[in-house]
Amino acid sequence: MLSLSRCTARSISLRALRAHHTQRPPLNSVTEHDLAHFAKFLDPPAILSTLPPVSLPADELDQFNNDWMGKYHGSSTTVLKPKTTQQVSEIVKWCNERCIGIVPQGGNTGLVGGSVPVKDEVILSLANMNKVRSFDPVSGILVADAGCILQSLTDYVAPHNHIMPIDLGAKGSCQIGGNVATNAGGLRLLRYGSLHGTVLGLEVVLPDGTILDQLTTLRKDNTGYDLKQLFIGAEGTLGVITGVSILTPPAPQASNNVILALPSFKNVLPLYEIVKRQLSEILSAFEFIDRTAYDLAVKHGQGRALSDQEVEGAECFVLVETSGGRREHDEEKLADLLESLLEAEKPLINTGVLAQSPAQFASLWALREGVTEAVSKEGKPYKYDISVPLSTFQEVVDGTREHLRSKGLLGDHAVKHVIGYGHVGDGNLHLNIVAESYTPEIQDALEPYVYEVVASHRGSVSAEHGIGAMKTHALHYSKSDVSIAWMKKIKDLFDPHGIMNPGKVLE
Ligand SMILES: Cc1cc2nc3c(=O)[nH]c(=O)nc-3n(C[C@H](O)[C@H](O)[C@H](O)COP(=O)(O)OP(=O)(O)OC[C@H]3O[C@@H](n4cnc5c(N)ncnc54)[C@H](O)[C@@H]3O)c2cc1C
Repeated sequence: MLSLSRCTARSISLRALRAHHTQRPPLNSVTEHDLAHFAKFLDPPAILSTLPPVSLPADELDQFNNDWMGKYHGSSTTVLKPKTTQQVSEIVKWCNERCIGIVPQGGNTGLVGGSVPVKDEVILSLANMNKVRSFDPVSGILVADAGCILQSLTDYVAPHNHIMPIDLGAKGSCQIGGNVATNAGGLRLLRYGSLHGTVLGLEVVLPDGTILDQLTTLRKDNTGYDLKQLFIGAEGTLGVITGVSILTPPAPQASNNVILALPSFKNVLPLYEIVKRQLSEILSAFEFIDRTAYDLAVKHGQGRALSDQEVEGAECFVLVETSGGRREHDEEKLADLLESLLEAEKPLINTGVLAQSPAQFASLWALREGVTEAVSKEGKPYKYDISVPLSTFQEVVDGTREHLRSKGLLGDHAVKHVIGYGHVGDGNLHLNIVAESYTPEIQDALEPYVYEVVASHRGSVSAEHGIGAMKTHALHYSKSDVSIAWMKKIKDLFDPHGIMNPGKVLE
Protein backbone atom coordinates (compact mmCIF):
# COMPACT_ATOMS: atom_id res chain seq x y z
CA MET A 1 0.00 0.00 0.00
CA LEU A 2 2.78 2.34 0.99
CA SER A 3 4.76 1.63 -2.16
CA LEU A 4 1.63 2.14 -4.31
CA SER A 5 0.93 5.60 -2.88
CA ARG A 6 4.58 6.55 -3.29
CA CYS A 7 4.40 5.37 -6.86
CA THR A 8 1.23 7.40 -7.48
CA ALA A 9 2.73 10.50 -5.93
CA ARG A 10 5.84 10.07 -8.06
CA SER A 11 3.90 9.68 -11.29
CA ILE A 12 1.79 12.77 -10.55
CA SER A 13 4.78 14.92 -9.76
CA LEU A 14 6.66 13.70 -12.84
CA ARG A 15 3.67 14.54 -14.99
CA ALA A 16 3.60 18.00 -13.46
CA LEU A 17 7.33 18.43 -13.97
CA ARG A 18 7.05 17.50 -17.62
CA ALA A 19 4.06 19.75 -18.22
CA HIS A 20 4.84 22.07 -21.10
CA HIS A 21 2.73 24.68 -22.74
CA THR A 22 -0.06 23.22 -24.82
CA GLN A 23 0.79 23.05 -28.52
CA ARG A 24 0.61 26.57 -29.90
CA PRO A 25 0.36 27.80 -33.46
CA PRO A 26 3.42 29.80 -34.61
CA LEU A 27 3.13 33.57 -34.26
CA ASN A 28 2.62 35.72 -37.36
CA SER A 29 4.20 39.00 -38.39
CA VAL A 30 2.09 42.13 -38.84
CA THR A 31 1.04 42.77 -42.44
CA GLU A 32 -0.47 45.68 -44.37
CA HIS A 33 -3.79 43.90 -44.01
CA ASP A 34 -3.47 44.13 -40.21
CA LEU A 35 -2.61 47.84 -40.42
CA ALA A 36 -5.71 48.41 -42.53
CA HIS A 37 -7.77 46.75 -39.80
CA PHE A 38 -6.19 48.85 -37.00
CA ALA A 39 -6.82 52.00 -39.05
CA LYS A 40 -10.57 51.33 -38.76
CA PHE A 41 -10.57 52.29 -35.08
CA LEU A 42 -7.24 54.04 -34.39
CA ASP A 43 -6.36 57.60 -35.48
CA PRO A 44 -3.39 57.80 -37.90
CA PRO A 45 -0.97 59.16 -35.22
CA ALA A 46 -1.71 56.08 -33.10
CA ILE A 47 -0.18 53.77 -35.71
CA LEU A 48 3.60 53.92 -36.09
CA SER A 49 4.85 51.42 -38.62
CA THR A 50 7.62 50.80 -41.08
CA LEU A 51 5.11 48.96 -43.26
CA PRO A 52 3.13 50.62 -46.05
CA PRO A 53 1.08 52.73 -46.14
CA VAL A 54 2.63 54.35 -43.04
CA SER A 55 6.23 53.54 -44.07
CA LEU A 56 8.19 55.29 -41.30
CA PRO A 57 11.98 54.96 -41.34
CA ALA A 58 13.05 52.11 -39.01
CA ASP A 59 14.90 54.44 -36.63
CA GLU A 60 11.60 56.13 -35.70
CA LEU A 61 10.80 52.94 -33.79
CA ASP A 62 14.21 52.71 -32.08
CA GLN A 63 12.99 54.11 -28.77
CA PHE A 64 10.36 51.35 -28.62
CA ASN A 65 12.52 48.50 -29.90
CA ASN A 66 15.48 49.09 -27.57
CA ASP A 67 15.44 48.88 -23.80
CA TRP A 68 16.65 51.45 -21.28
CA MET A 69 20.06 49.79 -20.85
CA GLY A 70 20.67 49.33 -24.57
CA LYS A 71 21.01 45.61 -23.89
CA TYR A 72 17.85 44.16 -25.42
CA HIS A 73 16.75 44.86 -28.98
CA GLY A 74 13.52 43.97 -30.76
CA SER A 75 12.66 44.32 -34.42
CA SER A 76 9.01 45.26 -34.32
CA THR A 77 7.62 46.94 -37.41
CA THR A 78 4.60 48.37 -35.64
CA VAL A 79 3.78 50.35 -32.50
CA LEU A 80 0.13 50.99 -31.62
CA LYS A 81 -0.87 53.74 -29.20
CA PRO A 82 -4.53 53.30 -28.26
CA LYS A 83 -6.38 55.92 -26.23
CA THR A 84 -9.16 53.80 -24.73
CA THR A 85 -9.65 50.41 -23.14
CA GLN A 86 -12.07 49.56 -25.95
CA GLN A 87 -9.35 50.20 -28.53
CA VAL A 88 -6.92 48.00 -26.56
CA SER A 89 -9.56 45.29 -26.56
CA GLU A 90 -10.04 45.55 -30.35
CA ILE A 91 -6.29 45.32 -30.94
CA VAL A 92 -5.81 42.34 -28.66
CA LYS A 93 -8.84 40.50 -30.06
CA TRP A 94 -7.54 40.90 -33.61
CA CYS A 95 -4.00 39.85 -32.68
CA ASN A 96 -5.35 36.79 -30.91
CA GLU A 97 -7.36 35.75 -33.96
CA ARG A 98 -4.36 36.37 -36.23
CA CYS A 99 -1.81 34.90 -33.77
CA ILE A 100 0.29 38.06 -33.63
CA GLY A 101 2.47 38.52 -30.56
CA ILE A 102 1.93 41.65 -28.42
CA VAL A 103 4.39 43.40 -26.10
CA PRO A 104 2.66 45.81 -23.72
CA GLN A 105 4.97 48.74 -23.17
CA GLY A 106 4.84 51.37 -20.44
CA GLY A 107 7.74 53.75 -19.88
CA ASN A 108 10.24 51.17 -21.18
CA THR A 109 12.36 51.57 -18.05
CA GLY A 110 12.31 47.87 -17.14
CA LEU A 111 15.70 46.34 -16.44
CA VAL A 112 15.17 42.73 -17.56
CA GLY A 113 14.33 43.12 -21.25
CA GLY A 114 10.59 42.52 -20.69
CA SER A 115 9.31 45.63 -22.45
CA VAL A 116 10.83 45.11 -25.90
CA PRO A 117 9.99 42.38 -28.42
CA VAL A 118 12.11 39.27 -28.78
CA LYS A 119 11.25 39.28 -32.50
CA ASP A 120 8.75 41.44 -34.37
CA GLU A 121 5.75 41.41 -32.05
CA VAL A 122 3.43 44.42 -32.09
CA ILE A 123 4.34 46.94 -29.41
CA LEU A 124 1.25 48.14 -27.60
CA SER A 125 2.23 51.42 -25.98
CA LEU A 126 0.03 52.66 -23.14
CA ALA A 127 1.45 56.19 -23.41
CA ASN A 128 -1.81 57.71 -24.68
CA MET A 129 -3.86 56.28 -21.83
CA ASN A 130 -2.80 58.87 -19.30
CA LYS A 131 -5.87 60.26 -17.51
CA VAL A 132 -6.72 60.19 -13.84
CA ARG A 133 -10.20 58.67 -13.65
CA SER A 134 -11.03 59.59 -10.04
CA PHE A 135 -9.49 60.50 -6.71
CA ASP A 136 -11.16 60.44 -3.32
CA PRO A 137 -9.21 62.68 -0.93
CA VAL A 138 -10.94 61.15 2.09
CA SER A 139 -10.07 57.52 1.43
CA GLY A 140 -6.98 58.36 -0.66
CA ILE A 141 -8.11 55.97 -3.39
CA LEU A 142 -6.85 56.91 -6.85
CA VAL A 143 -8.14 55.37 -10.05
CA ALA A 144 -6.02 56.06 -13.11
CA ASP A 145 -5.32 54.90 -16.64
CA ALA A 146 -2.40 52.47 -16.74
CA GLY A 147 -0.33 54.83 -18.89
CA CYS A 148 -0.12 57.60 -16.27
CA ILE A 149 3.50 58.39 -15.44
CA LEU A 150 4.31 57.74 -11.79
CA GLN A 151 5.66 61.28 -11.22
CA SER A 152 2.51 62.83 -12.69
CA LEU A 153 0.38 60.82 -10.27
CA THR A 154 2.63 61.91 -7.40
CA ASP A 155 2.09 65.53 -8.50
CA TYR A 156 -1.66 64.95 -8.86
CA VAL A 157 -2.21 63.67 -5.31
CA ALA A 158 0.30 66.05 -3.64
CA PRO A 159 -2.10 69.06 -3.30
CA HIS A 160 -4.48 66.70 -1.49
CA ASN A 161 -1.70 65.84 0.97
CA HIS A 162 -1.29 62.31 -0.30
CA ILE A 163 1.67 60.46 -1.78
CA MET A 164 1.96 57.46 -4.06
CA PRO A 165 2.79 54.30 -2.07
CA ILE A 166 5.62 53.60 -4.52
CA ASP A 167 8.65 55.67 -5.49
CA LEU A 168 11.62 54.77 -7.66
CA GLY A 169 14.45 56.35 -9.61
CA ALA A 170 12.58 55.92 -12.92
CA LYS A 171 9.50 57.82 -11.68
CA GLY A 172 9.77 60.48 -14.38
CA SER A 173 9.25 57.89 -17.15
CA CYS A 174 7.76 54.68 -15.74
CA GLN A 175 3.99 54.22 -15.80
CA ILE A 176 1.70 52.98 -13.09
CA GLY A 177 0.63 50.09 -15.36
CA GLY A 178 4.29 49.12 -15.80
CA ASN A 179 4.84 49.40 -12.06
CA VAL A 180 1.95 47.03 -11.40
CA ALA A 181 2.95 44.67 -14.23
CA THR A 182 6.44 44.36 -12.69
CA ASN A 183 5.25 44.55 -9.07
CA ALA A 184 7.91 47.23 -8.68
CA GLY A 185 9.34 47.61 -5.19
CA GLY A 186 11.33 50.81 -4.91
CA LEU A 187 12.17 53.14 -2.10
CA ARG A 188 8.95 53.14 -0.07
CA LEU A 189 8.33 49.43 0.24
CA LEU A 190 9.73 49.34 3.76
CA ARG A 191 7.01 51.74 4.92
CA TYR A 192 4.02 51.11 2.64
CA GLY A 193 4.45 47.48 1.59
CA SER A 194 4.19 45.94 -1.86
CA LEU A 195 1.73 46.66 -4.66
CA HIS A 196 0.07 43.34 -3.85
CA GLY A 197 -1.31 45.20 -0.84
CA THR A 198 -1.84 48.75 -2.10
CA VAL A 199 -3.43 47.95 -5.47
CA LEU A 200 -7.14 47.63 -4.81
CA GLY A 201 -8.36 46.86 -8.29
CA LEU A 202 -7.38 46.51 -11.93
CA GLU A 203 -8.94 46.75 -15.34
CA VAL A 204 -7.29 44.26 -17.67
CA VAL A 205 -7.77 43.35 -21.31
CA LEU A 206 -7.41 39.58 -21.48
CA PRO A 207 -5.63 37.85 -24.38
CA ASP A 208 -8.90 37.19 -26.23
CA GLY A 209 -9.89 40.86 -26.00
CA THR A 210 -12.35 40.46 -23.10
CA ILE A 211 -12.28 43.39 -20.68
CA LEU A 212 -11.96 42.16 -17.10
CA ASP A 213 -13.30 44.99 -14.97
CA GLN A 214 -12.04 44.57 -11.43
CA LEU A 215 -11.48 48.25 -10.88
CA THR A 216 -12.97 48.18 -7.41
CA THR A 217 -12.25 50.83 -4.82
CA LEU A 218 -13.04 48.55 -1.90
CA ARG A 219 -10.44 48.00 0.76
CA LYS A 220 -12.10 44.80 1.86
CA ASP A 221 -13.52 42.30 -0.59
CA ASN A 222 -13.37 38.62 0.30
CA THR A 223 -15.46 37.25 -2.53
CA GLY A 224 -13.46 34.30 -3.70
CA TYR A 225 -10.35 34.27 -5.85
CA ASP A 226 -8.56 37.60 -6.00
CA LEU A 227 -7.85 37.56 -9.74
CA LYS A 228 -6.08 40.93 -9.86
CA GLN A 229 -3.16 39.47 -7.91
CA LEU A 230 -2.33 37.30 -10.92
CA PHE A 231 -1.64 40.34 -13.09
CA ILE A 232 0.53 42.09 -10.48
CA GLY A 233 4.03 41.01 -11.46
CA ALA A 234 2.90 39.00 -14.54
CA GLU A 235 4.98 41.34 -16.76
CA GLY A 236 2.32 41.55 -19.44
CA THR A 237 2.19 37.80 -20.06
CA LEU A 238 -1.45 37.36 -19.01
CA GLY A 239 -3.13 40.52 -20.29
CA VAL A 240 -2.85 44.27 -20.76
CA ILE A 241 -3.48 46.37 -17.66
CA THR A 242 -5.51 49.41 -18.71
CA GLY A 243 -6.65 50.85 -15.37
CA VAL A 244 -5.36 50.80 -11.79
CA SER A 245 -7.10 51.54 -8.50
CA ILE A 246 -4.55 52.21 -5.78
CA LEU A 247 -4.52 53.32 -2.17
CA THR A 248 -2.42 56.44 -1.64
CA PRO A 249 -1.24 57.11 1.91
CA PRO A 250 -1.48 60.53 3.59
CA ALA A 251 1.66 62.57 3.02
CA PRO A 252 3.92 62.58 6.06
CA GLN A 253 3.90 65.96 7.78
CA ALA A 254 7.66 65.82 8.20
CA SER A 255 10.35 63.93 6.32
CA ASN A 256 14.02 64.00 7.03
CA ASN A 257 17.09 62.07 6.01
CA VAL A 258 20.65 61.45 7.02
CA ILE A 259 23.51 59.73 5.27
CA LEU A 260 25.78 57.68 7.50
CA ALA A 261 29.35 56.75 6.54
CA LEU A 262 30.42 53.33 7.83
CA PRO A 263 33.99 52.02 8.17
CA SER A 264 32.91 48.46 7.41
CA PHE A 265 30.02 46.56 5.88
CA LYS A 266 30.00 44.43 9.04
CA ASN A 267 28.43 47.39 10.83
CA VAL A 268 25.38 47.62 8.56
CA LEU A 269 23.27 45.00 10.30
CA PRO A 270 23.93 46.08 13.89
CA LEU A 271 23.24 49.62 12.69
CA TYR A 272 19.94 48.57 11.14
CA GLU A 273 18.87 47.00 14.44
CA ILE A 274 19.66 50.17 16.37
CA VAL A 275 18.02 52.46 13.80
CA LYS A 276 14.86 50.35 13.76
CA ARG A 277 14.70 50.31 17.55
CA GLN A 278 15.34 54.03 18.04
CA LEU A 279 13.31 55.44 15.15
CA SER A 280 10.57 52.79 15.22
CA GLU A 281 7.37 54.16 13.64
CA ILE A 282 9.04 57.07 11.81
CA LEU A 283 11.66 54.98 9.95
CA SER A 284 10.66 54.99 6.26
CA ALA A 285 13.82 53.95 4.37
CA PHE A 286 17.13 52.27 5.10
CA GLU A 287 19.15 52.15 1.88
CA PHE A 288 22.66 50.85 1.35
CA ILE A 289 25.34 52.05 -1.10
CA ASP A 290 28.82 50.59 -1.18
CA ARG A 291 31.82 52.86 -1.67
CA THR A 292 32.19 52.18 -5.40
CA ALA A 293 28.49 52.88 -6.00
CA TYR A 294 28.81 56.15 -4.05
CA ASP A 295 31.92 57.17 -6.02
CA LEU A 296 30.14 56.46 -9.33
CA ALA A 297 27.07 58.47 -8.26
CA VAL A 298 29.31 61.43 -7.42
CA LYS A 299 31.40 61.03 -10.58
CA HIS A 300 28.26 61.20 -12.73
CA GLY A 301 26.77 64.19 -10.95
CA GLN A 302 24.05 62.48 -8.91
CA GLY A 303 23.45 64.47 -5.74
CA ARG A 304 25.86 66.53 -3.67
CA ALA A 305 29.17 64.90 -2.82
CA LEU A 306 30.08 64.70 0.85
CA SER A 307 33.31 66.39 1.90
CA ASP A 308 36.64 64.53 1.77
CA GLN A 309 36.65 64.45 5.53
CA GLU A 310 33.16 62.96 5.67
CA VAL A 311 33.95 60.11 3.27
CA GLU A 312 37.44 59.37 4.59
CA GLY A 313 37.73 55.72 5.63
CA ALA A 314 34.16 54.91 4.59
CA GLU A 315 33.65 51.46 3.10
CA CYS A 316 29.94 52.02 2.57
CA PHE A 317 27.03 54.36 3.28
CA VAL A 318 23.52 54.04 4.59
CA LEU A 319 20.76 56.51 3.86
CA VAL A 320 18.10 56.68 6.55
CA GLU A 321 14.81 58.47 5.98
CA THR A 322 12.17 59.32 8.54
CA SER A 323 8.57 60.23 7.81
CA GLY A 324 6.28 61.20 10.60
CA GLY A 325 3.58 63.45 11.92
CA ARG A 326 5.49 66.14 13.90
CA ARG A 327 8.67 67.76 12.71
CA GLU A 328 10.12 68.63 16.16
CA HIS A 329 9.43 65.14 17.46
CA ASP A 330 11.05 63.46 14.43
CA GLU A 331 14.06 65.78 14.37
CA GLU A 332 14.65 65.16 18.04
CA LYS A 333 14.54 61.40 17.51
CA LEU A 334 16.95 61.59 14.57
CA ALA A 335 19.34 63.90 16.43
CA ASP A 336 19.27 61.55 19.46
CA LEU A 337 20.03 58.63 17.17
CA LEU A 338 23.00 60.40 15.60
CA GLU A 339 24.34 61.45 18.95
CA SER A 340 24.11 57.96 20.40
CA LEU A 341 25.76 56.48 17.30
CA LEU A 342 28.65 58.94 17.37
CA GLU A 343 29.19 58.73 21.09
CA ALA A 344 29.02 54.95 21.36
CA GLU A 345 32.05 53.27 22.89
CA LYS A 346 32.65 51.38 19.62
CA PRO A 347 30.96 53.62 17.03
CA LEU A 348 29.36 51.84 14.09
CA ILE A 349 29.62 54.96 11.94
CA ASN A 350 32.41 57.39 11.10
CA THR A 351 30.10 60.28 10.58
CA GLY A 352 26.58 61.28 9.61
CA VAL A 353 25.34 64.14 7.42
CA LEU A 354 21.86 65.34 8.27
CA ALA A 355 19.80 67.19 5.64
CA GLN A 356 19.15 70.75 6.78
CA SER A 357 16.83 71.87 3.99
CA PRO A 358 14.51 70.41 1.35
CA ALA A 359 17.31 70.90 -1.21
CA GLN A 360 19.75 68.90 0.92
CA PHE A 361 17.09 66.26 1.52
CA ALA A 362 16.69 65.85 -2.24
CA SER A 363 20.43 65.89 -2.79
CA LEU A 364 21.08 63.07 -0.31
CA TRP A 365 18.35 61.01 -1.96
CA ALA A 366 19.85 61.73 -5.37
CA LEU A 367 23.07 60.04 -4.28
CA ARG A 368 21.14 56.82 -3.73
CA GLU A 369 18.51 57.12 -6.46
CA GLY A 370 21.11 58.20 -9.00
CA VAL A 371 23.22 55.05 -8.73
CA THR A 372 21.25 53.23 -11.46
CA GLU A 373 21.74 56.13 -13.86
CA ALA A 374 25.39 56.61 -12.90
CA VAL A 375 26.11 52.95 -13.55
CA SER A 376 24.64 53.13 -17.04
CA LYS A 377 26.68 56.26 -17.78
CA GLU A 378 29.85 54.51 -16.61
CA GLY A 379 29.53 51.49 -18.91
CA LYS A 380 27.40 48.50 -19.81
CA PRO A 381 25.76 47.11 -16.69
CA TYR A 382 24.97 43.48 -15.97
CA LYS A 383 22.23 43.88 -13.39
CA TYR A 384 21.34 41.28 -10.80
CA ASP A 385 18.57 42.27 -8.49
CA ILE A 386 18.59 39.57 -5.88
CA SER A 387 17.21 38.78 -2.46
CA VAL A 388 19.75 37.18 -0.16
CA PRO A 389 20.05 37.20 3.63
CA LEU A 390 21.27 40.63 4.73
CA SER A 391 24.36 39.18 6.37
CA THR A 392 25.61 37.86 3.02
CA PHE A 393 25.29 41.07 0.94
CA GLN A 394 28.98 41.96 0.99
CA GLU A 395 30.10 38.36 0.65
CA VAL A 396 28.09 38.09 -2.58
CA VAL A 397 29.57 41.31 -4.01
CA ASP A 398 33.16 40.44 -3.02
CA GLY A 399 32.75 36.84 -4.15
CA THR A 400 31.56 37.95 -7.59
CA ARG A 401 34.49 40.35 -7.93
CA GLU A 402 36.97 37.60 -7.01
CA HIS A 403 35.27 35.17 -9.37
CA LEU A 404 35.66 37.62 -12.26
CA ARG A 405 39.25 38.30 -11.27
CA SER A 406 40.01 34.58 -11.29
CA LYS A 407 38.67 34.45 -14.86
CA GLY A 408 40.95 37.34 -15.86
CA LEU A 409 37.96 39.56 -16.59
CA LEU A 410 38.59 42.39 -14.15
CA GLY A 411 40.22 45.44 -15.68
CA ASP A 412 39.54 48.52 -17.76
CA HIS A 413 38.86 46.60 -20.97
CA ALA A 414 36.47 44.07 -19.46
CA VAL A 415 34.73 44.53 -16.10
CA LYS A 416 35.39 47.96 -14.63
CA HIS A 417 33.45 47.71 -11.37
CA VAL A 418 31.49 45.26 -9.24
CA ILE A 419 29.16 47.17 -6.96
CA GLY A 420 26.43 46.55 -4.43
CA TYR A 421 23.61 48.82 -3.35
CA GLY A 422 20.00 48.42 -2.51
CA HIS A 423 17.10 48.25 -0.19
CA VAL A 424 18.65 46.70 2.93
CA GLY A 425 15.38 47.07 4.78
CA ASP A 426 13.76 44.72 2.23
CA GLY A 427 16.68 42.26 1.98
CA ASN A 428 17.18 43.30 -1.65
CA LEU A 429 20.67 43.71 -3.07
CA HIS A 430 21.38 45.21 -6.47
CA LEU A 431 24.55 43.55 -7.65
CA ASN A 432 25.83 45.42 -10.71
CA ILE A 433 28.77 44.46 -12.84
CA VAL A 434 29.82 47.43 -14.94
CA ALA A 435 31.67 46.41 -18.08
CA GLU A 436 33.20 48.18 -21.03
CA SER A 437 30.80 46.30 -23.30
CA TYR A 438 28.45 43.32 -23.24
CA THR A 439 30.49 40.23 -24.15
CA PRO A 440 29.81 36.48 -24.18
CA GLU A 441 32.86 35.89 -21.92
CA ILE A 442 31.50 38.10 -19.14
CA GLN A 443 28.01 36.70 -19.59
CA ASP A 444 29.31 33.13 -19.27
CA ALA A 445 31.40 34.01 -16.25
CA LEU A 446 28.38 35.54 -14.50
CA GLU A 447 25.78 32.94 -15.28
CA PRO A 448 25.01 30.54 -13.79
CA TYR A 449 27.58 31.64 -11.15
CA VAL A 450 25.41 34.42 -9.67
CA TYR A 451 22.24 32.32 -9.70
CA GLU A 452 24.01 29.42 -8.01
CA VAL A 453 25.23 31.74 -5.27
CA VAL A 454 21.67 33.03 -4.80
CA ALA A 455 20.27 29.50 -4.70
CA SER A 456 22.90 28.46 -2.14
CA HIS A 457 21.49 31.17 0.15
CA ARG A 458 17.90 30.14 -0.70
CA GLY A 459 17.43 33.63 -2.12
CA SER A 460 15.49 35.01 -5.08
CA VAL A 461 16.98 35.66 -8.53
CA SER A 462 14.65 38.60 -8.88
CA ALA A 463 13.71 40.64 -5.85
CA GLU A 464 11.88 43.36 -7.76
CA HIS A 465 12.80 43.83 -11.42
CA GLY A 466 11.08 40.66 -12.62
CA ILE A 467 12.10 37.89 -14.99
CA GLY A 468 11.52 39.47 -18.40
CA ALA A 469 13.62 37.97 -21.17
CA MET A 470 16.75 38.03 -19.02
CA LYS A 471 15.98 35.34 -16.47
CA THR A 472 13.52 32.89 -18.03
CA HIS A 473 16.25 30.25 -17.91
CA ALA A 474 17.00 31.08 -14.28
CA LEU A 475 13.47 30.90 -12.89
CA HIS A 476 14.09 27.39 -11.59
CA TYR A 477 16.75 28.65 -9.18
CA SER A 478 14.00 30.35 -7.16
CA LYS A 479 10.81 28.47 -8.09
CA SER A 480 10.15 24.76 -7.70
CA ASP A 481 9.31 22.60 -10.71
CA VAL A 482 5.78 22.26 -9.40
CA SER A 483 5.39 26.07 -9.16
CA ILE A 484 6.70 26.52 -12.71
CA ALA A 485 4.37 23.80 -14.01
CA TRP A 486 1.38 25.60 -12.46
CA MET A 487 2.55 28.95 -13.82
CA LYS A 488 2.57 27.38 -17.29
CA LYS A 489 -0.93 26.03 -16.78
CA ILE A 490 -2.17 29.48 -15.80
CA LYS A 491 -0.47 31.01 -18.83
CA ASP A 492 -2.07 28.42 -21.12
CA LEU A 493 -5.47 28.99 -19.59
CA PHE A 494 -5.40 32.75 -20.13
CA ASP A 495 -3.40 32.85 -23.33
CA PRO A 496 -3.70 29.57 -25.28
CA HIS A 497 -2.17 31.13 -28.43
CA GLY A 498 0.79 32.53 -26.47
CA ILE A 499 0.40 36.04 -27.92
CA MET A 500 1.01 38.00 -24.72
CA ASN A 501 4.63 39.06 -24.35
CA PRO A 502 6.12 35.87 -25.81
CA GLY A 503 9.54 34.79 -24.55
CA LYS A 504 9.08 36.58 -21.23
CA VAL A 505 8.86 35.08 -17.72
CA LEU A 506 8.35 31.50 -18.99
CA GLU A 507 10.54 29.81 -21.60
C1 LIG B 1 16.76 54.57 -12.95
C2 LIG B 1 15.91 53.36 -12.68
C3 LIG B 1 15.60 53.03 -11.37
C4 LIG B 1 14.78 51.92 -11.10
N1 LIG B 1 14.49 51.62 -9.81
C5 LIG B 1 13.68 50.58 -9.55
C6 LIG B 1 13.35 50.25 -8.19
O1 LIG B 1 13.81 50.88 -7.24
N2 LIG B 1 12.51 49.23 -7.99
C7 LIG B 1 11.97 48.49 -9.03
O2 LIG B 1 11.20 47.56 -8.77
N3 LIG B 1 12.30 48.76 -10.30
C8 LIG B 1 13.13 49.77 -10.60
N4 LIG B 1 13.46 50.05 -11.89
C9 LIG B 1 12.92 49.21 -12.98
C10 LIG B 1 11.65 49.80 -13.67
O3 LIG B 1 11.61 51.16 -13.59
C11 LIG B 1 10.39 49.22 -13.09
O4 LIG B 1 10.36 47.86 -13.38
C12 LIG B 1 9.10 49.88 -13.59
O5 LIG B 1 8.04 49.42 -12.78
C13 LIG B 1 8.78 49.61 -15.05
O6 LIG B 1 7.73 50.46 -15.47
P1 LIG B 1 7.57 50.88 -17.00
O7 LIG B 1 6.30 51.64 -17.16
O8 LIG B 1 8.78 51.53 -17.49
O9 LIG B 1 7.37 49.45 -17.67
P2 LIG B 1 8.09 48.88 -18.97
O10 LIG B 1 9.56 48.89 -18.79
O11 LIG B 1 7.55 49.50 -20.18
O12 LIG B 1 7.58 47.36 -18.91
C14 LIG B 1 8.03 46.48 -17.91
C15 LIG B 1 7.24 45.16 -18.03
O13 LIG B 1 5.86 45.39 -17.75
C16 LIG B 1 5.04 45.10 -18.88
N5 LIG B 1 4.03 46.15 -18.96
C17 LIG B 1 4.22 47.49 -19.00
N6 LIG B 1 3.05 48.13 -18.99
C18 LIG B 1 2.09 47.17 -18.95
C19 LIG B 1 0.67 47.19 -18.92
N7 LIG B 1 -0.02 48.32 -18.93
N8 LIG B 1 -0.01 46.00 -18.90
C20 LIG B 1 0.66 44.83 -18.88
N9 LIG B 1 2.01 44.76 -18.90
C21 LIG B 1 2.71 45.92 -18.93
C22 LIG B 1 5.99 45.07 -20.07
O14 LIG B 1 5.50 44.22 -21.08
C23 LIG B 1 7.27 44.57 -19.42
O15 LIG B 1 7.24 43.17 -19.31
C24 LIG B 1 14.29 51.14 -12.18
C25 LIG B 1 14.61 51.47 -13.50
C26 LIG B 1 15.42 52.56 -13.75
C27 LIG B 1 15.73 52.89 -15.18
